[in-house]
Amino acid sequence: MMDVKLKIAVPKQALSVAENLPFGLADEVCEVGDLEGEGLWIREEADLVRALSDLPLQCARIVIEGSLLRERLPQSLLALASILADWQGSELYLKWPDDKDATGVLRSIADLLRALELRARGIRVISCPTCARCHTDLLPLARRLGAKLEAIPEPLDVAIMGCEVNGPGEARAADVGIAFGKGVGLLFRRGEIVKRIPQADAEDALLEEIERMCER
Ligand code: SF4
Repeated sequence: MMDVKLKIAVPKQALSVAENLPFGLADEVCEVGDLEGEGLWIREEADLVRALSDLPLQCARIVIEGSLLRERLPQSLLALASILADWQGSELYLKWPDDKDATGVLRSIADLLRALELRARGIRVISCPTCARCHTDLLPLARRLGAKLEAIPEPLDVAIMGCEVNGPGEARAADVGIAFGKGVGLLFRRGEIVKRIPQADAEDALLEEIERMCER
């Protein structure tokens, strides 16, 4: 996997806010004034829909205007995905215009970089969409685990799946996960079941397994 650095440039009055972003979102925070002009600047929508052949994709740095992303995030992310997939650089800057919270936008960019296998920081919790087979209240559990695991730096994918029939197979690409059956939780690693535990103990067992994997 490549290791693109995700950085944010903010006005001076926002430096302290940006420095307290959740773990893993920004690799560096700097002042907007320190950003020099080199690199590929994405300032307006037209820059996102330009033909790829017109873009200097070998450049080391891309700078994206935060106001563009804030106003049209889904469309911008879609267009950005095709640019990043062909890019060969190492620094992606978000130039944020004010002291409003940039967490949501940065998280979306970090997720996009991870999906494109350009950057990975910390634990990513993946939960199944749930269906009639689901044996537990999955989404609150996924949210709870996401919060508990937020400070872990290792780039692991953790899957939370609603049923033991399809869960381990559907989450085969995850490093570790839990799939729920009637009254039980199945701990699995890369799609293979390694342990069966009472459902009430499943969350703790998963956390212990993640700790073990991080210690290795
Ligand atoms: S893992 Fe099981 S519960 Fe979740 S969506 Fe797939 S079939 Fe449904």
